[in-house]
Parts: sequence; C-alpha cells; structure tokens
Amino acid sequence: MPIATTNPATGQTLKTYDPMSPEQIDAAIERADLAYRQLRGTTVDQRGRWLNAAADLLEAERDEIARLMTTEMGKTYASARAEVTKCAAACRFYAAKAAGFLADEPADAGAVKATRAFVRYQPIGPVLAVMPWNFPLWQVLRFAAPALMAGNTGLLKHASNVPQTALLLEDLFRRAGFPEGAFTTLLVGSAEVDRVLSDPRVRAATLTGSEGAGRSIAQIAGRELKKTVLELGGSDPFVVMPSADLDRAAEVATTARCQNNGQSCIAAKRFIVHADVFDAFAEKFAANMSALRIGDPMDPDTDVGPLASEGGRDEIHAQVRDAVDKGATVLCGGELPAGPGWFYPPTVVTDLRPEMRMWSEEVFGPVAGLYRVSSYDEAIEVANGTSFGLGSNAWTRDPEEQERFAVDLDAGNVFVNGMTTSYPELPFGGVKNSGYGRELSALGMREFCNTKTVWVG
Ligand code: NAP
Repeated sequence: MPIATTNPATGQTLKTYDPMSPEQIDAAIERADLAYRQLRGTTVDQRGRWLNAAADLLEAERDEIARLMTTEMGKTYASARAEVTKCAAACRFYAAKAAGFLADEPADAGAVKATRAFVRYQPIGPVLAVMPWNFPLWQVLRFAAPALMAGNTGLLKHASNVPQTALLLEDLFRRAGFPEGAFTTLLVGSAEVDRVLSDPRVRAATLTGSEGAGRSIAQIAGRELKKTVLELGGSDPFVVMPSADLDRAAEVATTARCQNNGQSCIAAKRFIVHADVFDAFAEKFAANMSALRIGDPMDPDTDVGPLASEGGRDEIHAQVRDAVDKGATVLCGGELPAGPGWFYPPTVVTDLRPEMRMWSEEVFGPVAGLYRVSSYDEAIEVANGTSFGLGSNAWTRDPEEQERFAVDLDAGNVFVNGMTTSYPELPFGGVKNSGYGRELSALGMREFCNTKTVWVG
C-alpha cells in the first residue's frame, strides 16, 4: 500500500511519501530509546505540563487538524472537530490523573513479613503503536497520552492512508515540549513492523486494527516475548426488547451504525430485535437511515461522507450482494451511487441467514443487518454467535433484564439504553477475536508499566 494522502471524496491522490529506509528506522528507534532514558527521569508534574500543552495546541488548531483528517479519510468535518476536542480532553484527563494512577500501592507489611512492601508502576521503554485510519487522531492519542505520562516513549506506525495526520502527531508532541524522540512517526509499510518489533530496544506493541493484523503482530511479539495490547474488529450486537423506548432506540441505532461513515469498530452492526416490536422498529430504523444525507464531508449538512478507500467500499457492497443473492431483503440502500468518490448509502438488510457473509463477518460501512428473535435466550444466542466480542448494546426498560444482559453478553463493553462510546474514565477493549488488554482509565496506563513488587525487610 503506498504511503499517500488520497481524498476519498474525489479519489484524487494529493501527496505521496517515500517509506523510511532501514537506516532511518534504526536511527528513530535509537532516538526513542535515548528519549526514554531521559523521560523516565522526569516528574509526573513535568510530563503533565507537556501533555496539557499538547491539549492547548489541539484546541487552538482544531479546525486545521479536522480539515486534514477529513481530507485524508473522509469523516465529516463536524465529527473530525469533535474528535480533536475528545483528544484534548483525554490529554487533560491523563495529565490530571496520572500521579494517582502511578502512585505506590502499599501492602499490609505484617501479612508479607516486611518493614514495608508496596507495588510501584514504572515505564518499560519504547512502545510500538500500529494504528488505523478510522479515528486517526483518537486511536493514537488514547495510547500516547497514558504511555507518555507513564514515562514510556512511542513509535507510531500509522495507517498508510493518513501520513499527514501521522506527521502532525509527532510535531504536536515535540511542540508541546516533550524531549526529541519521545514520540516518533515511522513512515513505513506494514511489512516493516516485524523489523521494528524485533528490535531489542522496542519493548512492547499496541495495535488497533483488523483481526489479520492482530494475528500477525501477536505472532511476532510471541516469538520476541513482548507484551501486546490488541484492539481488533467487532460485530457489535444491538438488542431491542419489547419494553424498549423504540423511538430512542431507532434514533441511536442510526447514529451507532453510521457514525464515522459506518467505519467504527464499536459501531452497532447487528440489530437483534424481539418479534413483538420488530416491524415497528424496522420501519422507524429504515426511515431514519434513508433520511441521512450523503455527500461532501466538508459540508455541515452532510451526515455520511465517503468510505475511506475504494477497496473498503467494494468489500461492503460485495457483502450486501452476497446476502441478497442468498435471499436477504434490502429495506433501504444497497445500490452503488454513480459519480466520483467512494460513497455508499446507509443500508438495512434483513432475512439474514448463517450462510451469508454478513452473518459472521465484520461489515465496515453504513450497512445494518436486522435479525428477528422471539425470546431473551434467542437474542443472547444470536448476539453472542460471533467470533468477535468488542462492544454491545441492549435496549430494555426492565431492570431484571438489564442485569441479565450485563452478565450474559460476551463483550468487553455492555451499554444499556445508550450507544457504545469510549470514555477516558472507563476501560476499553474486547474479548474473543476482538483482542485483549485494555486501553483508557488506569488499566490502559498500567498495560505498559512494569508492575514492580518492592519488599523491604
Ligand atoms: P488494518 O488493515 O489492520 O490496518 C491497521 C493498521 O495495521 C495499519 O497501520 C496497517 O498498516 C497495519 N497492518 C495491516 N496489516 C498488518 C500486518 N499484517 N502486520 C502489521 N501491521 C499491519 O485495519 P483497517 O482495515 O485499516 O482498520 C479497520 C479495522 O480496525 C477493523 O477491523 C476495525 O474494527 C478495527 N478497529 C478496531 C478498533 C478497536 O478499538 N478495537 C478501533 C478501530 C478500528 P497499512 O495501512 O500500512 O496497511
């Protein structure tokens, strides 16, 4: 894949980059290692001042950064601005909370026969971050903010279609005051990940991306005995039970499926609806989906912009065609629009069966699968009948059912009567083929710490 900016709204390539040479990669790793030795000797307060300065820059340059993201991957300008705001807030959150998250945790000295004993959280060194294009700023910041606050340094291998956002991130941390090499962008293709992760100076890796990339990075890390956090794909269920507020559920379902032009790992993708309310929900949902405006992502009236790549659009159209050829019914959308750009209409497909690709694969675009179930148990069976386990949604006003969903849904996140969202305050991650490890909250920061036991006799 070339390292290039290509505007998905027009299909025009605007800028291409040569990948870094092995010598340049080696020099970048060396700088990251040297910066680590420097950063781990700084105070949390100092690192917090730099991270708050990064938040200030993000807020001051929000419009420009948002325009760049929209140009590189097609998200609407409004959602790009919101992403920048969220990133600044995450920086401020970790700047404020890191001292508490990293504080020594004393143990009961009597019980462990010590004068004193405690757990100390220390940084581990340069961490490789392999990141996707869909939230090109947020995915990186949610790793970088806690990692830098802990005293680690970051080496970013960003997706090949967002090189300017990747370079902007390196520049952001430098201008915020972090030492040279604390956060470095490696302009390299995915084939170079093996070289970087095998380097003894690189201590761990985090990946947000597809299941295939996860398997590949986990293999390299296994061989090298290095820690990984993997945030992979999802096929999140959105269960609607008879007691649900149907208008609200249909409204949130539309946003949950079409946010980021349908390209979110935690987008609701499979809508599992109880037979008692199926027809009413299907009608409202299809009406909402049809009403969304598709068009230029810079236009404030646009709800859904183009998909990030031509290949991505071909893939979801092939998934829809496969379902239709095998007997599924399209309630709205499903046709490729004419004209330039990689647009795809919000689509609802029902009468799905296990032999259709949409049943088991992640659908990474604004296409919803609608499933009819006749009981709570059947809803759980369909919801959990996937190899993924990232987010999940349940809509019910019955308190007992809410409790049961929280227990029975096989996912890293369960959101009841609301849309799955990531918050710096809450851990984020998946189970099954959606990966392992957690980002955000104190847990996300400690993933890349040496949890050191200190015992003094
Ligand atoms: P992708 O192809 O896996 O790309 C993600 C990153 O991994 C890119 O930097 C890519 O580099 C790199 N990569 C790809 N194959 C690799 C390999 N074999 N070895 C090493 N690196 C490799 O994913 P995508 O299609 O761009 O993104 C969509 C996927 O990410 C979806 O499955 C989505 O659900 C998932 N995702 C998960 C989360 C989460 O938090 N769990 C969040 C967002 C997205 P190149 O660009 O150079 O190929």
